[in-house]
Amino acid sequence: MMQENTGEQGYNIMSIILQSIPSDAAITKIEYEGPMIALYTKNPKYLMENNQIISNMVNMIKKRIIVRTDESIRKSEEDARNILIQLLPKDAEVKSTFFDTALGEITVEVKKPWIVNQPDTSTNDFNMIELINKTGWKIRVKKASHIQSEMMKQVNYTLKMNANERNKFYKYVGDQIFRPKLDQTAEASLLTLGGFGEVGRSCMLLTTHESKILLDCGINPGARESLNAFPRLDWANIELDELDAIVISHAHLDHTGFLPVIFKYGYKGPIYCSEPTLPLMTLIQNDMIKVAMVEGKIPLYTERDIKEVIKHTITLPYGMVTDIAPDVKLVLSNAGHILGSSTMHLHIGNGDHNLVYAADLKYGRSQMFESASWNYPRVETLIIESTYGAKEDIMPSREEVEMNFVNTINRTLTDGGKVLIPVPAVGRAQEILMVIDSYMKAGKMIEAPVFIEGMISEATAMHVANPEYLARELRQRIMETDDNPFMSEYFTIIERADGREEALRDGPAITMATSGMLEGGPVIEYFKALASNPKNRVVFVSYQVNGTLGRRVLDGSKQVSVMGREGKIEVININCGVEKIEGFSGHSDYNQLISYVGKLRPKLRRVIVNHGERRKVENVASAVGRIFKIHTNAPSVKEAIRLL
Ligand SMILES: [Zn+2]
Repeated sequence: MMQENTGEQGYNIMSIILQSIPSDAAITKIEYEGPMIALYTKNPKYLMENNQIISNMVNMIKKRIIVRTDESIRKSEEDARNILIQLLPKDAEVKSTFFDTALGEITVEVKKPWIVNQPDTSTNDFNMIELINKTGWKIRVKKASHIQSEMMKQVNYTLKMNANERNKFYKYVGDQIFRPKLDQTAEASLLTLGGFGEVGRSCMLLTTHESKILLDCGINPGARESLNAFPRLDWANIELDELDAIVISHAHLDHTGFLPVIFKYGYKGPIYCSEPTLPLMTLIQNDMIKVAMVEGKIPLYTERDIKEVIKHTITLPYGMVTDIAPDVKLVLSNAGHILGSSTMHLHIGNGDHNLVYAADLKYGRSQMFESASWNYPRVETLIIESTYGAKEDIMPSREEVEMNFVNTINRTLTDGGKVLIPVPAVGRAQEILMVIDSYMKAGKMIEAPVFIEGMISEATAMHVANPEYLARELRQRIMETDDNPFMSEYFTIIERADGREEALRDGPAITMATSGMLEGGPVIEYFKALASNPKNRVVFVSYQVNGTLGRRVLDGSKQVSVMGREGKIEVININCGVEKIEGFSGHSDYNQLISYVGKLRPKLRRVIVNHGERRKVENVASAVGRIFKIHTNAPSVKEAIRLL
């Protein structure tokens, strides 16, 4: 009787819940909500005050449970907002409220979340349970950013406008995840579809006895022909509707750029990623459309396809065990690379195999993020990157890197020059903002106005809105104090082109602008204005790819031409200083990659190396084999590896 312990899985869960829940809980409905089981109640107060009921039940059924309020007790948005304003401590300063009607959840952005989160009972008697009880809505309190992110608003708006569709989608996904298993056979294999023996178009297909899951879905922006630009889904020979899920490690284009295309061609299933990855990848995917338009190319996908991605994304916090298929459980953990970047732990079958895909990884602390997680209870196979996997890829210590950066800036400012820092919007930009703020405050960097332009502010706002994804110290500063390094008084955000005059006026100044490789974006206007003066200096803080304008400038070109307004070619003479500060990388260097494997060593049976040039992949694979005596693979694209 194969089906006995599987086919009745759903029925068993529901009946266990019904039996163990007291009638005081006033449960009106139990249903799947994607990977979770949602309990709807008319008496949320009771379940919150007796929270051991839910945790006992989770231990029993080993599934995630979420408590939702019954629609009939939810006050209208207007009434709920009024109650909220009345009951929340005034000092918290409510900046905005967002009502998610699909989930019955209000996100409240306040200026001082610490007042709500740790109410000082002597001065205010704020009570969250009371607030939920009175409004009939669940409530999430978040930090309001000083800068509004248009992209986050758009994402929220898309979610809200499609509440009904999302409700149906969640139920559909739940039915798929908790469908009966065919039998207990355990099998797992991996097809390499992109990002193996190369950097770009990261993508692989995990196939188990029961399910098919795509891990990452990127493009290679540098590739000349489409055969090398996109993941080789054609070779995998699968229909999109056979896929159970797509899991995304982080927002960068080489991991997410192909997602909208998948929806364009008819995928209707879920995407799983961390919370901040959703608005960040939306920002990056939208930017790709803009870049294509500017270059006169036809974009791969439209804004409509991006909206489909948003509607089908289920975000997960780090550390939460989530069923994503009948025989696969997923846990995302911090990868230390960019905001929301995740390693994926995939638990296959009844613990038959445990796979960790580390994706882009920083095993080492930065000012922004904790070092990547390594403490997995079990892992037999590790997939690890090798972007900086050559022997000579040893980065200086963070302190050295920061001192080099500070000294370069101080020298330029002392000579009366201006500093221009071309910077990618996500990740590096925020790290540089923090370094500048802390060294200026400590009196180690000459104080000067800092101008910020381009997508940087959008991405920064997303960092402030997701402090739980930042390094502990930084998170505490944002959540518990008024001292937020991203809101430093040294910084001026330039929102429109006519604001540039101020940044270009005589006198010392530092300007940060996108794009990071001088390939378009507002940085070009500053570069044109500053390049001819030998007192000024361009400081690169990120990798400059061959063939980009940034690389030519870095390699010492004395004259370059750029596309000016109305398509006219402009010639720029370069007399200013040019410098590259090595080491501000979101990737692990060679030593960090090897130590990461060393940390996991006792549990590992196999290491698969990807995301690097061929010789770097091979170097890491052979080093791991030599040092740890573990079986390694250094596959190319279009290979199949049997895991189990
Ligand atoms: Zn990345």
